[in-house]
Amino acid sequence: MIELGTVGWTDSHCHLQDFPAEELSTILKRAEIFKIERFCVNGTRPEDWSVVARLAANFPGVYPQFGLHPWQTAQTENWEIKLKEFLLRHPHAGVGEIGLDTQLTDTPLETQRPAFQKQLALAAELQRPCTIHAVGAVWDELLEDLQTHRPRAALLHAWGGGTHMLPRWIECNAYFSFGGALCREPQSGKLVEAVQAIPLDRILLETDSPWQHPKGKAHRQEPAALLSVAEQVAKIKKVSLDLLRQVVEKNVTRCFGHRQLGHG
Ligand SMILES: [Zn+2]
Repeated sequence: MIELGTVGWTDSHCHLQDFPAEELSTILKRAEIFKIERFCVNGTRPEDWSVVARLAANFPGVYPQFGLHPWQTAQTENWEIKLKEFLLRHPHAGVGEIGLDTQLTDTPLETQRPAFQKQLALAAELQRPCTIHAVGAVWDELLEDLQTHRPRAALLHAWGGGTHMLPRWIECNAYFSFGGALCREPQSGKLVEAVQAIPLDRILLETDSPWQHPKGKAHRQEPAALLSVAEQVAKIKKVSLDLLRQVVEKNVTRCFGHRQLGHG
């Protein structure tokens, strides 16, 4: 078992493969200063899965996730066999980043959804957790698909949904991951309400690095920023940073599994 008194933080969702490779050691050293030690790195298309696999082989804190992102579904063919091969070759990897999006892409939901459903089915078949991107008017479809496939755990990345259906998400083994959006000024009242409403034992923290800097697209987010997100959640939940870390890291272990995170 892990000794939670000594364990650092986990960035539960990021894309380290999108940084210039030669800068990565420095970026991870900056994160280490704040005890951010584990990174769940999400592939988004067949072309970057091997890069993610290489990062996991080269950096002990990197945990790979392989998936076809909803934005990639229209232009990607013949991905299914390759994805299953990657998952079988990496028995501790999760399925991600997958999802549904009606807002940030022109790809129609009818194109995205079969790919999403196939990947949920694969996650359930292989007993892997999955990481989900959900943006726009997708909540009914998403819930329906999760209820059908019941993956072992579903990390809802950069959670921006409401709170009225919380028990139904939780029934589907959902975890709610908060990121840089919480550090925007002025702070979103809807996000604060979500943090207040979601039980502590369902909360995860992420940066989505190098994306989703709170100041916008001109800036590059880094895993070191996870601590700022943690500070916001601790403030809203009225708990100490140390207690938050202990609870969130237990959640990480439950969501991704002990072996996946190198614990125990
Ligand atoms: Zn992402």
